[in-house]
Amino acid sequence: MIRILLSMLLALAVTTRLAGQETIAPIYVTLWFDTEDYILPQDDDATKRLAEMLTRLGVRATFKIVGEKARVLESRGRRDVIAALKRHDIGFHSNTHSQQPTIAVYLQNAGWEDGRAEFYRREVQGVRDIHRIFGVTPVAYGQPGSAWAPQAYPALRDMGIGMYLDESDQVGIDDQPFYYGGMLNVFKMRSNLARMELRGGASLANGTAAFTKIHEQLRSKGGGTISIYYHPNEWVQTEFWDAVNFRRGANTARGEWKPPGTRPAAETEQAFQDFDQYVRFIKAQAGVRLVTATELKTIYGDKAMTRSFRPDDLLVFARSVQKDITFQKLDGYALSAADVFSLLTDATTAFIERNAWPAATKVTALDGPGRVYAPPTGGARSASFRWSAFAQAVRDTSDYCRTSHRLPDEVWIGSESLSPADYLATLARTVEDLIVSGKAPTDVMRREGHYTADRYVAADSPALWGWVIFPEGFHAPRIMELARLQAWTLKPAMLPH
Ligand SMILES: [Zn+2]
Repeated sequence: MIRILLSMLLALAVTTRLAGQETIAPIYVTLWFDTEDYILPQDDDATKRLAEMLTRLGVRATFKIVGEKARVLESRGRRDVIAALKRHDIGFHSNTHSQQPTIAVYLQNAGWEDGRAEFYRREVQGVRDIHRIFGVTPVAYGQPGSAWAPQAYPALRDMGIGMYLDESDQVGIDDQPFYYGGMLNVFKMRSNLARMELRGGASLANGTAAFTKIHEQLRSKGGGTISIYYHPNEWVQTEFWDAVNFRRGANTARGEWKPPGTRPAAETEQAFQDFDQYVRFIKAQAGVRLVTATELKTIYGDKAMTRSFRPDDLLVFARSVQKDITFQKLDGYALSAADVFSLLTDATTAFIERNAWPAATKVTALDGPGRVYAPPTGGARSASFRWSAFAQAVRDTSDYCRTSHRLPDEVWIGSESLSPADYLATLARTVEDLIVSGKAPTDVMRREGHYTADRYVAADSPALWGWVIFPEGFHAPRIMELARLQAWTLKPAMLPH
């Protein structure tokens, strides 16, 4: 009887698994609009028409609004536009967008903490005005043009914004969502970016064909997210509102702003009709779900943050970071290098204080270091440290992380220091030895860490900063140096399975 029951259960399990394999991989499509033109009044009508069209189609999009645009809608008395937008997710797209100096320009020589404070100081008014006018804290942010900077992330978190939604090339993992800077990023989606042109003629046919190709490729890889973005002004303008006034660093005074050229009414009409068909087409695809930024935050929720880790888990992570300091993909979740830094530091601190490994350790979210490591001047460079000295450094590092919510720039052992990478490699080897042997060593050998997480960060070059609003030849090596340091926080965003 038991044997029959067991074989029935086994048969059931096999069928369930086969059925599971047949279900099609989920494809999430996120549609977002950078709502930014505060000069041409026709943009208000285009914005309203798009928002209402999507509502009629049963689709919710994410409208990332510029602070100045929100203020202009209010001062023009466009309660109708505001009401139409409020039926969608509201995001943030900087305070003034293209007025000089733009974000990457004013942050080009800033450090970590001062840059974070400066982004907050210059941009927060936009969030406050959006909150007053739309009644919500924006769910996501994305930069104007390619004016990206890593210091924006902690400042955005301070503003209550927990997702990065945009497209540029500074950082990304395999054209799919990822975690960086303590939030979900839908960014650098490149091959999974779909954008039908709005030029009439073959635009619709080409747009649906391109979507189908992306859709099929992504499905064959097990599913994922497709990003689609527009600007409402594209429906009504022949040239971008900001390129007319702020091109190549131009600092045109408010009283001298010129409106952009406008498209003939028939062209605008065709573009709206094509877009309506395009959205209907996407909506009709089997297994495709149109999702807002809020929904993506749930779908890609970071499972690592709610898990508890046992000593045998720590052993796996410790072995991995001795080879390469980068993210680790595990069963249904991923850990960033910073996550492992926090886990090993906190668990070892508990071991030092209680002489036993904690049964469960949780990840504490940390930012990367604030500056590039520089070795100390003077003295010798020890090949090993007394256990008591290293243990004191681990406890001090745990305290630093708890106080500053980021990795230290250096870890002091007496008058000597280790880079965060060398500290983590040294700690990981020590954790491995401690868990395996169960007792503290007399001495700890200095190890060299191989920090490779930054290979997902682009090299600085003028091409990376190709936005027409930047001064000619602009590039930002300091911003990209900080971006590489923040790759400690980088890891793929995993779909539930
Ligand atoms: Zn924009």
